[in-house]
Amino acid sequence: MSDAQLAPVLSVVVPVCNEIEVLAEFHRRLTEVLRSCGVTHEVLYINDGSTDGSLAWMQAACGQDANVALLDLSRNFGKEIAMAAGFDHARGEAVIVIDADLQDPPELIPQLLALWRAGYDNVYAHRRLREGETWLKKISAAWFYRLIRKLAQVEIPLDSGDYRLLSRRAVEALRALREQHRFTKGLFAWIGFPSIAVPYDREPRMAGQAKFNYWTLWNFALEGITSFSIAPLRLATYFGLLVALLAFVAMGFLIAKTLLYGDPVKGYPSLMCVILFLGGIQLTALGMLGEYIGRMFNETKGRPLYFIKQYLPSRTARGCE
Ligand code: UDP
Ligand code: MG
Repeated sequence: MSDAQLAPVLSVVVPVCNEIEVLAEFHRRLTEVLRSCGVTHEVLYINDGSTDGSLAWMQAACGQDANVALLDLSRNFGKEIAMAAGFDHARGEAVIVIDADLQDPPELIPQLLALWRAGYDNVYAHRRLREGETWLKKISAAWFYRLIRKLAQVEIPLDSGDYRLLSRRAVEALRALREQHRFTKGLFAWIGFPSIAVPYDREPRMAGQAKFNYWTLWNFALEGITSFSIAPLRLATYFGLLVALLAFVAMGFLIAKTLLYGDPVKGYPSLMCVILFLGGIQLTALGMLGEYIGRMFNETKGRPLYFIKQYLPSRTARGCE
């Protein structure tokens, strides 16, 4: 039998980083739903450098359940890279990405599958409610999505996370994008293909800690903006031009004033103001350039995205059952 014949219909990719408190419950709910779907499937856990008992739990699950596969990365690479590793190893005709913390309800999977069968390549869960999240996170998320939508040339849907189903051709498209700075939400939109939203209510994380604090979220936002838009660079140019223009007007004014009334004051304060102001603008513009140059530096190194410590394919996918 060829590899394709052995491959399951559905792969569920689960990036995991220190989720021991929720894994058992997550797995129970997920397998219950998958069983009711009646399709051949594999659950591919990506261990992204967990330091609690998550890895041991997943290894045990692999031994017990023939549908479970495990990809153990060599260290913590972050969720974006963990998902990329998942896409590289998922063998299904359809691939679902889901968080382990039960914020993405597995009960949505039958609906995702139905829309995939109806011909959609990218069926994304669209959250209506954000329970258990602080108002600051809600507001900053709302603003971020609106901003990125304005800046980037791609239509990134508002209030959608990574939870989605992708068809094989969408996964292959994503696999072709090997950039280090992965803003996966943007990449999902960038590849195109017919997409559709499935609304749901996002629940609070069942247990454990969210790994993203405001600083990581800020960096994530920066990643999103700089990998999808050069608008900040352009902004720096326009701002610089505006300041130069204002300086020019001020110069005319000062020259006229000096010619008419002389220069009784030494002009030290105004000079300092102008120098500091321009210095600030220049540094800002340089900083923006630096953001992009840094990213170019990282991409030109051409490093592999991740390394694998251990890969245990699912036994159904290997054709042992
Ligand atoms: N995650 C990961 N690597 C990381 C951080 C998170 O694989 O470095 C996983 C985590 O185990 C979970 C998912 O990504 O399954 C989402 O993480 P989290 O719940 O912390 O994010 P949030 O829901 O706050 O966006
Ligand atoms: Mg979460």
